[in-house]
Amino acid sequence: MTHHATLRTTVAPSTDTPAVPPSHDAVDVRVVGSAGLTHLEPLAFATLDGRTAIHTNVTTEALDSLCDRLEAGTLPTDGAHATVAHDPTEPPQPSGGPLSAGTRRVLARCGWADPTDPSPLDGGLHTNGARVVEAVRDAGLRPRGRGDAAHAVGPERTVAEEWDAARETPGDPVVIVNATESDPGIDGDRLLLEADPATVLDGALVAAGAVGADEIVVAVSEADELARARTEALVAAATERDLVETSLEVVTAPDAFLVTEPTMMLESLEGADRIEARRRPPGPAEYGLFGRPTVIHTPRTLAQVAVLGRAGTVGAPSDPGTRLMTVTHGEKRATVEIPTDAPLRDALRGVGSPWFKMACVGGQFGGLTRTLATPANADAMHGARLGTEGAIELLDDGRCAVALAGRRAKFAREENCGRCVPCREGSKQLHELLRDVYDGEFDDGDVRELARTVRDTSLCGFGTAAARPVLTALDEFGPEFAAHANGRCPAGECR
Ligand code: SF4
Repeated sequence: MTHHATLRTTVAPSTDTPAVPPSHDAVDVRVVGSAGLTHLEPLAFATLDGRTAIHTNVTTEALDSLCDRLEAGTLPTDGAHATVAHDPTEPPQPSGGPLSAGTRRVLARCGWADPTDPSPLDGGLHTNGARVVEAVRDAGLRPRGRGDAAHAVGPERTVAEEWDAARETPGDPVVIVNATESDPGIDGDRLLLEADPATVLDGALVAAGAVGADEIVVAVSEADELARARTEALVAAATERDLVETSLEVVTAPDAFLVTEPTMMLESLEGADRIEARRRPPGPAEYGLFGRPTVIHTPRTLAQVAVLGRAGTVGAPSDPGTRLMTVTHGEKRATVEIPTDAPLRDALRGVGSPWFKMACVGGQFGGLTRTLATPANADAMHGARLGTEGAIELLDDGRCAVALAGRRAKFAREENCGRCVPCREGSKQLHELLRDVYDGEFDDGDVRELARTVRDTSLCGFGTAAARPVLTALDEFGPEFAAHANGRCPAGECR
């Protein structure tokens, strides 16, 4: 009897990851991108005759052993994290454990598909882009991530409104995929380019059609070498097969937190010596790359465009779709996708313990909360003063809210671009006020007033978010500030 056996592994080529056994007649061995479960990877998906055994944290020896058993016609289920019967053309969907956390719409192909295979672009959504554009417009899809130009200072635009603004501006439009996210707590954009760049490019091609652009630039952080290499390989394969008429170019941008801000990313692409945010309006849709009408979306937004076109909407009507949340809890880390009407705590199932002292939601400049009951849509998260950027960092007892707020204020002081006074001088004074707490000086009103000024008067998204950790720490853990002024750290973290 002839078996159809496949071994997929999320092993990324580097010197510190296991060697991948070669493909041979009996077993088709494929290297795929991350499934998002960083602490369980490398994963291996051993598939034989419609059943898949999923193994976690595999070594070179384990991969060899899995391959040998598949070659012998045996599904290696012993020691497996899960074994699932499924349509062999579709990824397995375990019913329990971390791999079953959340929903996998945007992440559906991550950890399963060959990231460099251009086949999804052959007759992809962009070939019927007008229908997808209308679906995006009807749904009122909103942007994902601080690197998206529609996620702006002031009233946020929907994705379709951003497209309208670019299309109605005279000039030669261009689409930029902003994959420069350098926040250490946010993996969503890098994960998508490493694991499923075809879905991102399909969404970008829809956007290009919406605004009449014949050029797409993918800007990748210089630190994300694998994301860049796989996207370049996909573009080369799609070009060789003549699957797209639009010009596709992959470029790198500096690995700096600042550069993710859309107008600073433009400055870096234009080769500016000094990277500073641009004043808005006009936004990039009206005056972008070298003055051209420019649509700037993150890979997460563009993947939402593609999935909305493929599978319709889910989630909260005010912010339809799903949200990728990178959850970090000590050594554990996972990127989990949840519908926007689901509570944030649903993302924790990918990592583990629901017990924590506080959570920082939104990355480096996220908001602190004691509970994750807030739904994962932008309106609810803004109302709870949490960041929508796509990160949940869980902090246990023993971690100090005052120390965390101080570190984030210090980061803002050191990393801001210096262009506007409220952020440049405000973050410096905020950091100094928080240091004064340790010297016994604490005036809640003074700290709040300064933090609000930074938030409300800064020029770009960096400054408007920078004071959020301090303000939410005061709201949730105010007594800890007073205790520090009296020489005591209730968590025991500070000396
Ligand atoms: S808010 Fe901060 S980062 Fe943004 S322009 Fe002002 S100084 Fe620069």
